[in-house]
Amino acid sequence: MFSAASRLLRATKHCPKGLVEPTRMFSISAIRTEGLQLNSLDTFTEEENMFRDSVKRFAVDIVGPKVREMDEKESMDPTIIQGLFEQGLMGIETSAEHGGAEASFVSAIIAIEELAKIDPSVSVMCDVHNTLVNTILRKYGTKEQQDKWLPLLSESQLGSFCLSEPVSGSDAFALQTRAKKDGDHWVINGSKMWITNSHEAEIFLIFANVDPSKGYKGITCFIATKDMGVQIAKKEEKLGIRASSTCTLNFDDLRIPAENIIGGEGKGYKLAIEILNEGRIGIAAQMLGLAQGAFDKAVPYTYQRTQFGQPIGTFQGMQFQIAEAAVELETARLLTYNAARRKEEGRTFTKEAAMAKYWASQVAQHVSGSAIEWCGGVGFTRETGIEKFWRDSKIGAIYEGTSNIQLQTIAKFIQQEYSR
Ligand SMILES: Cc1cc2nc3c(=O)[nH]c(=O)nc-3n(C[C@H](O)[C@H](O)[C@H](O)COP(=O)(O)OP(=O)(O)OC[C@H]3O[C@@H](n4cnc5c(N)ncnc54)[C@H](O)[C@@H]3O)c2cc1C
Repeated sequence: MFSAASRLLRATKHCPKGLVEPTRMFSISAIRTEGLQLNSLDTFTEEENMFRDSVKRFAVDIVGPKVREMDEKESMDPTIIQGLFEQGLMGIETSAEHGGAEASFVSAIIAIEELAKIDPSVSVMCDVHNTLVNTILRKYGTKEQQDKWLPLLSESQLGSFCLSEPVSGSDAFALQTRAKKDGDHWVINGSKMWITNSHEAEIFLIFANVDPSKGYKGITCFIATKDMGVQIAKKEEKLGIRASSTCTLNFDDLRIPAENIIGGEGKGYKLAIEILNEGRIGIAAQMLGLAQGAFDKAVPYTYQRTQFGQPIGTFQGMQFQIAEAAVELETARLLTYNAARRKEEGRTFTKEAAMAKYWASQVAQHVSGSAIEWCGGVGFTRETGIEKFWRDSKIGAIYEGTSNIQLQTIAKFIQQEYSR
């Protein structure tokens, strides 16, 4: 079921102390026990490096050959979804007991980044499944709910996170989907819009209001399966991440067993806010990987292509643009890893996650746009795949909170700090 690398990853995690257990350079315990040991932000544990190598191989060898076809057909190849499950990439932080790889949050970020270097569509599928759906169950699910749902999500069934609606995007908690109690079931009516993974998903986390008189305090998270009657109404045709499905869902008297509430009645607001704060680091990682993928494709070309008798990449006008893009990439990388490390260390990270997501999506747009220009006409064709990175980059400034919403979050922290 699992690749050699992910098996090794699991084995090293459970290795008795004193043998070859890798040091978690940035964990609280590492800092406490090793006193003053401080590391650069791009220092990874042996386990994280192994994880990166293994995801990279999967992305390059298995995803790579399918990217263009999936983009043109606007559909995800089912063998890629199956491959992600087989590689242990759909339960990255989930416990081994529940079929997961039991790896760190940083490992999830690494996986999202590496997949995005090759295909941001595959990356977001893995991201939503891990950082939103799995995490909600791991953090807020009861033991029974975890025992029931996490093995399915680790091994075979794709998940969707259903919050946005036609009337509620940035103002997500103005949602209109309603849930009414009926004996030992809840009955859900309403619709959701823009739901990632929903065309292929079997498991849906649905946010609905059980008591609109309480406003956002009535919002509750339910878990449903497709066969309960989730209707896929429309699949969007998009500018970018076209292989990732984005659909409108309808719920027409959708009956859900009462035990399928996650985190308690009325707790959906708190749960969604907390999860989206974490999820944003995933989107930052997706945008970081995307920008690096475009850079890696375009820069070698600039040293092969000659004009005026010399490689175009050696003209100062080009060198400076490439150098600036490298600086931008580095800043996005450091912001993303810093937010991820803070989360893993149990420190506050909301502001840092917003900064990472905001900045990485700006960098992704700029670097992938420049990469097209560096390659001239060749960059503008679909054959090289560079233009796809640019199309895919636009979504970073929209989902899991638009760039304005990230700036709003950052501004709130600044105001709190400076207006005391
Ligand atoms: C491809 C794709 C996948 C998605 N996947 C999911 C998913 O899996 N699950 C899910 O629940 N949702 C998903 N979404 C929805 C996504 O999170 C929303 O599109 C996003 O939150 C923005 O909402 P909106 O599209 O309604 O835009 P709006 O909220 O209408 O925003 C439009 C513009 O107004 C600006 N604006 C709005 N309010 C303010 C404000 N207070 N201050 C300043 N500017 C403001 C925004 O920044 C933006 O520029 C997805 C969307 C897309 C396009």
